[in-house]
Amino acid sequence: MNCACCGGWDADRVIQTPDYELHIDAPFEISACRNCGHIYTSVRPGRSALFSKFYPDEYICYGGKRGVDGFMDRKRMEGQAVQRAKMIKKYVGQRNPVRLLEVGCATGEFIKTCRNRFGWEVAGIEPNRPLSDALNREGYPVLPSTLEDADIPDEQYDVVSLFNVLEHLWDPVYSLKRINRLLKPGGLAVLELPNFDSPSRKRFGKHWFLYHLPRHLSHFTKKSLTGLMNGCGFEKVDILKQFRPTVNVLSFQYAVQDRIRSNPVRSFCSARNPAMIAAGIFFELLQNRMGDSNIITAIFRKTAAVFQPIVSLLKERTL
Ligand SMILES: [Zn+2]
Repeated sequence: MNCACCGGWDADRVIQTPDYELHIDAPFEISACRNCGHIYTSVRPGRSALFSKFYPDEYICYGGKRGVDGFMDRKRMEGQAVQRAKMIKKYVGQRNPVRLLEVGCATGEFIKTCRNRFGWEVAGIEPNRPLSDALNREGYPVLPSTLEDADIPDEQYDVVSLFNVLEHLWDPVYSLKRINRLLKPGGLAVLELPNFDSPSRKRFGKHWFLYHLPRHLSHFTKKSLTGLMNGCGFEKVDILKQFRPTVNVLSFQYAVQDRIRSNPVRSFCSARNPAMIAAGIFFELLQNRMGDSNIITAIFRKTAAVFQPIVSLLKERTL
């Protein structure tokens, strides 16, 4: 694959790693573009194979678990949705009601929270048909579409949010320009995504959970994200660290599964073991305090609907 940001073909390999979640095909590869600095999954399945084969209905983000696990998952997602909405509320100022579009709204906890607790006008885009159909039945306007194909008029929204979505998109430049057009003047793009500068990534190597190949196609640092957003007509408002200890636990679990055959050891290292969770929390606290987080939330404001050619993502521009 060539670079999705500048179209360049010259790239240096960063790492090779398999799909630790579904254990199909392998290995995939991440490279850094020599021209613009974008880091992307250069060895990946074709577009239709990727979306038909690597996003099964039981995919981790589609919330398909049943019983106690499903209940706990929903509670965790509801709590996270409230935190996210409160965070956005601080940045939107006096706009009321806020008109919000969530790209990749999955099971819809976030848009439900925004409407029911904050009275915002919400809409969503979700390409997984059973999920978008379920939300439509509950009265939430969710388009069963990708962002590229969604038929929505321009300048409709105060906020467009993408929680752990940008890194999955086939064409991040086109998508961000589309988001720019969907926002009203001065509107906010709120993006949560993995941080390629995370100390955990360096510590866990190919076992870092957030490589998530081949589903993650772009891999951003704060600097490269800001460069890309600048080129797509946005200015940086803030970039926040997030506290996600599970990333450490799951990365450790991948490393153990890869290296140790003993079943008792593998069971002990399960992501459900309280000792593992405690260790994950400790490391997340430590790295957030000393350096950088596994996940970041970036808030950018639309400054213009004029786009800059992407020459380098590693140079922040003054708009
Ligand atoms: Zn490039």
